[in-house]
Amino acid sequence: MKFLITGGAGYIGSHTLIALSEAGYDFVVYDNLCNSSQESLKRVSKIINKDIEFEEGDTRDKERLQEVFAKYDINAVIHFAGLKAVGESVEQPLKYYDNNVNGTLVLLDVMQEFKCKKIVFSSSATVYGDPSSTPIEENFPVGATTNPYGTSKYMIERILEDIVISDSSFQAIILRYFNPVGAHESGTIGEDPNGIPNNLMPFISQVAVGKREFLSVFGGDYDTEDGTGVRDYIHVVDLADAHVKALNYINSNKYETKNSTFNIGTGIGCSVLDMVKAFEKASGKKVPYKIVQRRAGDIAKCFADSSLAKEVLGWSASKTIEDMCIDSWRWQSNNPDGYSQSFNFKNI
Ligand code: NAD
Ligand code: UDP
Repeated sequence: MKFLITGGAGYIGSHTLIALSEAGYDFVVYDNLCNSSQESLKRVSKIINKDIEFEEGDTRDKERLQEVFAKYDINAVIHFAGLKAVGESVEQPLKYYDNNVNGTLVLLDVMQEFKCKKIVFSSSATVYGDPSSTPIEENFPVGATTNPYGTSKYMIERILEDIVISDSSFQAIILRYFNPVGAHESGTIGEDPNGIPNNLMPFISQVAVGKREFLSVFGGDYDTEDGTGVRDYIHVVDLADAHVKALNYINSNKYETKNSTFNIGTGIGCSVLDMVKAFEKASGKKVPYKIVQRRAGDIAKCFADSSLAKEVLGWSASKTIEDMCIDSWRWQSNNPDGYSQSFNFKNI
């Protein structure tokens, strides 16, 4: 029995491979490497002390997927593969709908053909749009998304719901991630954004390591404690663990369709300035910042009620903001140029 991990060479996927291996699960990675490199898999392989089975391919490539499903006995899929840059999705919506939605349709089609009926899907808190209150519960309205990336996630959620309605033996779990940050404690794998980072944590890390001069804080006039945006940052290692818990649940007789969508966050709201302070403490470096205009499409506050995941999956986050900053800093300072530089494993 094997799990297919689409997008497994990426940031969250690579961390999840470690959690799966620790749980004794067997997997094969399927990735087209459009936003990652095989270097991440090499490093995971060192951490878990095991070779990783890797099949290069695109989720939109039906024949390639058929080959992979024919080669392995795949019991379930964790579907990370997708494009995730919000700004790019506004500029190139078709690219996002094609890659994310069409890629998922082709994957689901091949899964049906090979009678593989279990999937764990990477969704996002972005499906809630601008929530009327916080903390956000799973039954809050979804769909009022503010960009094509978020809409692609919402569409895939709807597609999965419809498949479950059409086939009661099909099981889907939707994990709505809040803001994944941090890195594996080894400091050898982490988030490696292309070009200028869009997200807060990689930007702060690059300022601290001296690659960028200062952080632009997008808005100081929100209705929050210090006027800056509040988010629910979740350590990627905790997030990885949520996937193991999701697989345990989907493979148990406790699985119920009515309990199959989960918020994955800490439940703690942290402002941009809170994060700057925590990062300065963890790294011992100054993070100069300037408060600038709000970023279009941003919301004031977003944090999760994750009690359903605790109750049903037995999952909850255990790592603090301090852990997230310490681990991000270890990754960033050991690998200022991400995966493009080779890493000396003798140093760990
Ligand atoms: P990532 O870009 O690091 O990983 C995605 C991986 O998918 C990459 O290795 C990429 O090469 C691969 N990929 C993309 N399109 C593909 C395709 N058509 N066929 C095969 N492989 C393809 O991103 P991540 O941060 O690890 O995110 C993983 C998933 O979680 C994504 O679906 C993302 O939308 C979702 N998510 C991420 C965040 C976040 O902030 N990182 C938040 C919420 C949801
Ligand atoms: N943010 C910021 N400067 C940056 C990047 C982000 O002030 O360079 C803020 C952003 O306005 C939001 C928070 O940090 O309040 C988290 O942003 P991110 O893009 O990481 O996540 P998202 O907005 O998608 O939740």
